[in-house]
Amino acid sequence: MIEAYEKHVMSTYVPDRVMVKGQGTRVWDADGQVYLDFGSGIAVTNTGHAHPVVAEAIANQARSLLHVSNLYYTENQAKLAQRLSMLSLKGKCFFCNSGAEANEGLIKLARLWGHAEGRSGIITMQGSFHGRTLAAVAATGQDKVKKGFEPLLPGFKHAVYNDLGSVESLVDDQTVAVLVEPVLGEGGVVPATEAFMKGLEELCRSRNLLLLCDEVQCGMGRTGEWFGYQGYGITPDAFSLAKALGSGFPIGAVVAGPRLADTFQPGHHASTFGGTPIACAAALATLDVIESENLVKRARSAGEAFKKRLEGLVGRFEHVVDVRGRGLMLGIVMDRPVKPLTDAMRDIGLLTLPTAENVIRLLPPLNAKDSEFDEAYDIIEECIAELHGISPEDADADSSSEEQSDLEH
Ligand SMILES: *Cc1c(COP(=O)(O)O)cnc(C)c1O
Repeated sequence: MIEAYEKHVMSTYVPDRVMVKGQGTRVWDADGQVYLDFGSGIAVTNTGHAHPVVAEAIANQARSLLHVSNLYYTENQAKLAQRLSMLSLKGKCFFCNSGAEANEGLIKLARLWGHAEGRSGIITMQGSFHGRTLAAVAATGQDKVKKGFEPLLPGFKHAVYNDLGSVESLVDDQTVAVLVEPVLGEGGVVPATEAFMKGLEELCRSRNLLLLCDEVQCGMGRTGEWFGYQGYGITPDAFSLAKALGSGFPIGAVVAGPRLADTFQPGHHASTFGGTPIACAAALATLDVIESENLVKRARSAGEAFKKRLEGLVGRFEHVVDVRGRGLMLGIVMDRPVKPLTDAMRDIGLLTLPTAENVIRLLPPLNAKDSEFDEAYDIIEECIAELHGISPEDADADSSSEEQSDLEH
């Protein structure tokens, strides 16, 4: 199988295990090794693997109507648009299939809105990530994503994240919108400050700009709010969703408030697969699970507890410099590349996501059990101790616990 993969799948990824099954917080590989999945397939399986409610909804919908196109009304799309709107901006939605495509939708929406005044410029952030299609690549504030794909789509400027003055200095009479991730995901799990988000809202109001949020990674309960922006008490004009929206079934959305709800008119934008009955069934079931299991609150409480525990690693291990994030979107910041650490964790059964070189990103399912957080913590601590040494005082504590476990044996 690996031979066929290497020969016929383009080399855009570097996979390292053959995964065959998932259940709740765990996944199994082809050799039968079991892993705690604290990456959630990159912020996708927020309801855990193979949640019975989601699996049922997908299977049932597959038996009645998979797809019929947007030439016709379909019930699930109406229901999903209504629920997402009522949870957020009380406006309208457009459905697509991925995060990049949702951001393309936001960009087109902003350009169309500013078109009559000849405004098309969008300010995004350094360190941001908005996807791999050409407009999303141009919007992204990381050179490694852009290199080799020039000429890039014009119209994007990149401000310094969490620096309102930097955004202000880039606004000119061409500017139509500011696009921001409430928590930088690929950029290293960096939460926006409250002053920054509030300041952006104020700036956008006073200069007649659109405020757009990329919620592709931090949305769907991840940060302890339904959507990341809600933790800042601000209201964007629109935001993008994808990743966790369908618990793994591909679906993306542009969610707009009243200001942008009626900007797109027939013919302006479309997607063949956007909002199919089956994709919307997966998303509706995902919303049901998040609501019935109280997962937004759970993300906040479990996230706070886990973060506090992880913070104990700072100072105990000299190379651990910070723990940051919101809800269950957490990053352990090291003073060196974390790949050897995340590989070691994987080898003994914990999947995490190295990001921005020096950050171990943790995105567990929102319904991970307390005991699973304990297990994950033990693996993290063990691997850091093994690879980066332990401070003398902890060496004492550790040897006593070792004696104890010797006795137990
Ligand atoms: C993953 C991600 C995207 C891109 O989503 P795709 O579904 O891979 O196209 C865009 N924005 C953010 C913040 C992301 O994390």
